[in-house]
Amino acid sequence: MAQLDVRQKLEILADAAKYDASCASSGTAKRNSRDGKGLGSTEGMGICHAYAPDGRCISLLKILLTNSCIFDCHYCINRKSSNVRRARFTAKEVVNLTLSFYRRNYIEGLFLSSGIIGSSNYTMEQIVEVARSLREDHEFRGYIHLKTIPDADPELIHQAGLYADRMSINVELPTVSGLKRLAPEKDNGRIEGAMNGLKTSILDTRDAKARYKSAPAFAPAGQSTQMIVGADAATDGDIVTKAARLYDRFELRRVYYSAFSPIPDASAVLPLQRPPLMREHRLYQSDWLMRFYGFQPKEVVAAADDATGMLPLDIDPKLAWALKFRDSFPVDVNRAPKELLLRVPGLGTKAVANILTSRRWRKLRLDDVARLTVSIAKIRPFIVAEDWRPVALTDKAELKPLVAPKKQQLELFAA
Ligand code: SF4
Repeated sequence: MAQLDVRQKLEILADAAKYDASCASSGTAKRNSRDGKGLGSTEGMGICHAYAPDGRCISLLKILLTNSCIFDCHYCINRKSSNVRRARFTAKEVVNLTLSFYRRNYIEGLFLSSGIIGSSNYTMEQIVEVARSLREDHEFRGYIHLKTIPDADPELIHQAGLYADRMSINVELPTVSGLKRLAPEKDNGRIEGAMNGLKTSILDTRDAKARYKSAPAFAPAGQSTQMIVGADAATDGDIVTKAARLYDRFELRRVYYSAFSPIPDASAVLPLQRPPLMREHRLYQSDWLMRFYGFQPKEVVAAADDATGMLPLDIDPKLAWALKFRDSFPVDVNRAPKELLLRVPGLGTKAVANILTSRRWRKLRLDDVARLTVSIAKIRPFIVAEDWRPVALTDKAELKPLVAPKKQQLELFAA
């Protein structure tokens, strides 16, 4: 590997980390002030944003320890057979970079991942050393998110959790067959075994903390994972089912979905085109339905097209479910329990809370609901209010065009 200075390494290893969706701040135009004109840059290397457990948005230095890897996962730009420029930080360099970015107020924490160098244990030792040095040698109090190597010794993973705020292990692909085909060196059993180990440590520590205040913390911001969407033949139904299982079995804080993006020098087994970004968005919406709206995974799956197993792209999954199961509507805003109100398309959790509070004092009319919500046009066919009952409209076959968002003209030269 050619000798690179820290800035060159940062350029390579921050760029290589952008494929991890767990914290993303992409999507804006490229601008910089390298020519001496103006101030600031949208191309700053390695800074991303994430949400802390208390809801604050924090900036993180997001980098890889190295983009060299002994594995050859087809979808990964850092795989062994990839023709990319390689770089590797030492643990000390990552510590120094984090501290200097932190002191300049650029970041509030570190997001560290890595390709596998030498062995899983050696790589994990290096990751632990970064976190240990930050916490013990420098008393770093900022946020640390560590990506974990599932094949590493559980004791090393445990040590990492004692320093990190959040830990994550990527399941990568929604189906075991997809993982076997696209990441043959990875093993679903080992990945889930490591996630289970993290869950046990998190729960044990929570329990110990409840009894002894001095008990050491272990990944207090919990664990998360990421699934790649569109690299294999898995349907949205497969992805939703897998996500629900992961939430259930491993008490994950978040499952992140990352639309597969074709990489330079791509393997022939990968699709040539990326899936529509809207697919990723619909999966995030389905995730919210399960986490905040009381939908069961099989209900979200039922919103998908029966033939293809895919969620519609033109309407959100909650509306898709409501159109498919119209006999669950209309819902009476003055009498229905919270669970049913949450099913109404266009009613968010805040609007439902407002309705529940307001109806304690008086019967709600359609105008009252309109004042408490964003779009009464979308909601109207699905509710009953004091002065409103949509008898004919709810059963009308052409309901979808009436409530679906209007199609927007695409820009010919959009990026
Ligand atoms: S193990 Fe990770 S870094 Fe290595 S090729 Fe697979 S996905 Fe890429």
